[in-house]
Parts: sequence; structure tokens; C-alpha cells
Amino acid sequence: MALSRRKMLKNAAAAGSVALVPQVVPGQAPAQLTGTNTGRRFKAFVRHGTGASVEELRLLAIQPREVVIRTQASAVCYTIVGQALGTTAARQASIPNHSGMGVVEAIGPLVKRVQIGDRVVIPGTPQCGQCYQCLQGRSDWCQFLSTAPAHPIAEMADGTQVFEGGSLGGLSEIMVVPEEYCCPVFTDVPSAELTLLGDTVGTGLAAGHNLAQIEPGADVVVLGAGPVGMGAIQSARIQSAGQVIVVEPIKYRREIAMKVGATMTLDPNAEGNGLVAKIRDLCKGPTDRRFAGGRAWADQFLAVPNGPDFTIEAVGGDTFAPKTEVGPDPTGVLPLQQAFDFTRAGGHIVTLGFGQRGNVTFSAVQFANRGRTFHSGQQGGLNMLRDIPRYVRLIEKGVIDTKSMITKTYPLERTREAVQDVADRTVLGAVITFS
Ligand SMILES: [Zn+2]
Ligand SMILES: [Zn+2]
Repeated sequence: MALSRRKMLKNAAAAGSVALVPQVVPGQAPAQLTGTNTGRRFKAFVRHGTGASVEELRLLAIQPREVVIRTQASAVCYTIVGQALGTTAARQASIPNHSGMGVVEAIGPLVKRVQIGDRVVIPGTPQCGQCYQCLQGRSDWCQFLSTAPAHPIAEMADGTQVFEGGSLGGLSEIMVVPEEYCCPVFTDVPSAELTLLGDTVGTGLAAGHNLAQIEPGADVVVLGAGPVGMGAIQSARIQSAGQVIVVEPIKYRREIAMKVGATMTLDPNAEGNGLVAKIRDLCKGPTDRRFAGGRAWADQFLAVPNGPDFTIEAVGGDTFAPKTEVGPDPTGVLPLQQAFDFTRAGGHIVTLGFGQRGNVTFSAVQFANRGRTFHSGQQGGLNMLRDIPRYVRLIEKGVIDTKSMITKTYPLERTREAVQDVADRTVLGAVITFS
């Protein structure tokens, strides 16, 4: 007897449980019964009490629109190091981080976006496709982010309930996420590379393509060559920028930047107060010359006649002092100030860094009449369901270099070391990989 979907759900509701019904979609294999993962044991790096450790956990029941993912890789993000290495009493036990990728192993009965067996990238922000921000093309501000259910996904041996950082965690053999966080990918690209698209590198790529919309031949400055900045550098290269000038205090990062698309690099410590003038001088633009006959541009009226067309800031404030070369300003305000000061009038400034402490000051006339266009975003304007599959294709074609972004991989047992290396800035990309 054929049962309508409405009737099945009604019956299930009457029984006081979620509907555990296999979904059959024409042309696709039927999804398996769900709920079988409840009680499953797995390991995760858990911040609890006054520290953090790898713990064996027991999975709790999932919600009808949630997905259980066997994690294959998760890259440690700098923004979590303060929490993950913290020693103050944690408000609740939680699995740090906010991105990852893996294989779908169970789905709630109402899940439509993915099927069991799909490889999925889980970015730091969801894309519901229905909220105001999604509808206006800014799914990196998807409003589902603030309504995603924050319930414990597992419990420790002593019964302590364990939550996920950012509704998805990542430093764990299992992730449980609402389907709105899932981006299926159909590719053989290694997991450690794919996971970078869900956070840092994907953010930088999207910033260049979606927010700045870098034009061919344009002058681009990228401040900061961490994993986010590296994505922006690659975006500028892909867009055929005329110049890609990268400002970064750490030598090994300047070298990787040259490999993936920078046309020159500058050390902000060496340049000191001369950095703004130097960048403006380097970005005179193809029309900045005196015409035959000696006419010059009326510089005194334009005030900022030279400077990059596009500036992408990816520095942010220091949570811990780096164990490599120390940048000129641990508060992260200086790069924002410099971006405003050297970007040409009419240029674009994209800000991606987190954790700045302080204020940027503007000349009122510069602000009022010499405008730059500002862009910021939760994840660089990433439109994940559209962009991540595009980026995967570009990795396959060798256009996006994700290999050079990973400087070290670690097993789950060495997560603390990975987080410490990220805090110290001794690695560019630190990825936890799972067998
Ligand atoms: Zn992040
Ligand atoms: Zn949304």
C-alpha cells in the first residue's frame, strides 16, 4: 500500500519519534535507514574543564535534518587557537574548529541535500538557500548560522555532554551537522586539500572572485600570506591581475606566496613607515605618465592618485606571539589602516582578518570624497554550493594549488601539537587527517 509522505510523518509524530523511513529518489539508490549510528564510539579532541585532550565519545541520537559524517580531514584555523589551548574553565565541553570534510555515513529522515556515501566539504558557514542573506547572494552571512541547533552530539565516558564548535567542530572522527552545512563534491582530490576549501583558502579565493571581483591587469595588494591570504593571492593570479604585491613578515610564507601567484613580496618590518608610500609608488597604474607636451595629472585634487585597485587584508590580531618573525603590529589594526591609506580613490578594500583590537582613523575628506569601496564577510562572500565545486575543478586542472598550502599533516592524537604549530605560525596549513 502506498503511503503518502505526509501520512508517514504524521504516523511517526504520533508514535513520538522521528520518521525512520528510507527515501527513494527516482534514478538514485535509496538512502539507508538512519539512526543506526546512535551509541557509536569515536575519538575527538575535546576542550573540557581547564584543558583539552583526545577522548573516546559515544554518539547521541541525531535530529531529522542532521547528517553524520566520518571525518577525513580538518584544517586547524588560527581563530580557534585561543580556545583550543586555553586553560580557563570551559563553559561546556566542545570539539573545537569549524570546518572539515569526509564521507556521509548516516542521515536523518528529512535530509535531502546529501546521500550516504557522498564526499562532503563542511564549510564554516551554512547555506540554507532560503534566508534573506542567501537570497541576496551573501550566503556567507546565512542566517541559519544563528539558528543552527546547538545541542550536544556525544557524551564522554563520565556522561559529560559534548558540543561542537561552530555547530560542526572538525577535530573529531565524527561530525554531526545540519544538512545546510553540507557541500557534496564528486572528485578524487585528496581530503587534506579539499578541506581547505571549507575555511581559509576557500575564503581567500571567494574574496578575490566574489567580493573584490579583481579585474584583468589590475594592481592587487594582499596583506598577510597565511592560508586565507594565499587563497586571495591565487584568486588574483587566476583573474590575471597585472601585479600581485604581497606584504608578509614571515620569510617562508613570502616564498610560498611567490610560488602561488605573487609578483613581488614586501617585508613590513623592513619597509617600516615607508610601506604606504612604496606601495603607492609601485601601483602608479598603466595611465600614470605625463603626456607628450608635459601635461600632468592634477594630483593635488585627487589626493590619492596612485595605489592598488584592489587590496585584500588577511592579517587580523595575534592571539599568541608568533615563534617566527613577529609582525609590526600584534593588534592587527596597522594593516587595516595601511589598506585605507594606500588604496587608490575608487579602489576596493576587502577585509578578512579577525580579532583586531583598536580603531582605524580616517581623514574626513578622504572618507567623504575620496571613496574606496569596502567589503567584508564571514567567509569572503563564498557561495559554497556554487563555488566549492568550481574550486574543485580548478584544483583538478592544476589552476588552484592546494598542495603547497599544506605544510604539515597530523593524526588526531597529535592535535594539540598541530594547534600549537598554528598558534606559533611555524606551519602554513596544519591538517588533521583520519585514516
Ligand atoms: Zn576559520
Ligand atoms: Zn541562508
